[in-house]
Order: sequence, then structure tokens, then C-alpha cells
Amino acid sequence: MQIILLGAPGAGKGTQAQFISKHLNIPQISTGDMLRAAVANKTELGLKAKDLMEKGDLVPDGLILDLVQNRISEADCSNGFLFDGFPRTLEQANALKDREVKIDCVIEIMVDDDEIIERMSGRRVHPASGRTYHIKHNPPKQNNIDNETGEALIQRPDDNEETVKKRLSIYHEQTYPLFEFYKGLSSKKLPTNYVEINGIGGIDDIQLQIINNIEKLR
Ligand code: AMP
Repeated sequence: MQIILLGAPGAGKGTQAQFISKHLNIPQISTGDMLRAAVANKTELGLKAKDLMEKGDLVPDGLILDLVQNRISEADCSNGFLFDGFPRTLEQANALKDREVKIDCVIEIMVDDDEIIERMSGRRVHPASGRTYHIKHNPPKQNNIDNETGEALIQRPDDNEETVKKRLSIYHEQTYPLFEFYKGLSSKKLPTNYVEINGIGGIDDIQLQIINNIEKLR
């Protein structure tokens, strides 16, 4: 299956993407994680993306599309993949459509802005794997330590409140139109299914809602 996971930054996409990816045995393609790796490795892409990311701005569509196109042509994507944090703009979504990348299902995780701001300030990340925790809602077993590797967790530089507010406003301006775009595709009976999930509640309940919807399509 080829799936897009949509939702505001902090809606829980990363956490749910890991469950879905394991459940369906397909790779999770997080453009944010790929960009952070490029920044850490100081590649040409990383050097171009670093400042934009720290300010909470989007990285230009052309760079993202090359990154994604290369990634989905790798062998592990032959049975499907899960996009997490991509597409973020109508240009990116249109480019996927023009390149005839088939999308079976678009899942939107809905959470309102106040809740997002509360969540982001408590978010902690294991940089090497992208695993995310929340100090209140999904704490690691040991304070500030990744459950699987025992390594330290960090707060992302773009998770401070001011940058989160900026990322939310960019999300409303640039990413929100994707909902109508993909709802339009489903209503025209193209083979893209559109599923809305209430992202407020326990992580396990949300996971169950997502899995139930995916199973109906298999
Ligand atoms: P994320 O981890 O998905 O919240 O992404 C972190 C940052 O990476 C974003 O704030 C953007 O600067 C950049 N980024 C990630 N994915 C995309 C994308 N699809 N298009 C443009 N910029 C992106």
C-alpha cells in the first residue's frame, strides 16, 4: 500500500507512522527525518535546508521532490511506503499526481492548534531513529532516555513555542489545501481513499482507528 499521513506538526504523525510501517511492513518515508540526517551529515542538501528548518520555514519543493523521487525508487519501496510529512504543499501533491505515483490512502490526523502547542513543548526525540516521546503523554521508561537504545533524548530546535506557532501558520496556509485536494480525488472515485482520524485521545486508540481503516482497504 502507498499511504500519505497528513496532519499538523505535532499531531502524532511520527508516532503513528511507526506503527503503520511495522503493521504493513512498508518503509516510513519522513522528509523531515531525511532532511535532519542531511543537515547532520552536512551534505549539499543539508546546508541548503538547515537555516530554513531552524526558522520553521519549508524547504523548496524542487529539493524535496528530488529527495522523495530517489527514495521511492529504492528496492524496499517496491511493496509500498508511507509518506510522513510529505506532501506539504499543493505543488508537491500535484507533482506526485503528474508523476503518476499511485496513492491508495490519505490519512488525516486531526488535532486543534492549542493542543498542538501543548504537545510540541513536551516533545522529546531520539535523533538517530526519529522515535518521539512526550514528557506527559508518552514518557520514556527512564527520564530523557530512549527506550530501545538507552541513548539521550533531545528537544528539537524547532519545537520551541515561537517556531511552533510559525510552523502552524505555514501549515494552515500551505498544507491545509491538501485536504480539499485529496478529498476531491476520492470523491471523483479515483483510487485514493481519504480517512479522517480524531488525533485527540490515547495513542493506542488512535492506532486502532488507523489500523481498522487500513484493514478495510486491504
Ligand atoms: P517535520 O519533521 O516533518 O516537522 O519537518 C521538519 C522541517 O523540515 C519542516 O519544518 C520543514 O522545514 C522541513 N520539511 C520537512 N518535510 C518537508 C516537505 N515535505 N516540504 C518542505 N519542507 C519540509
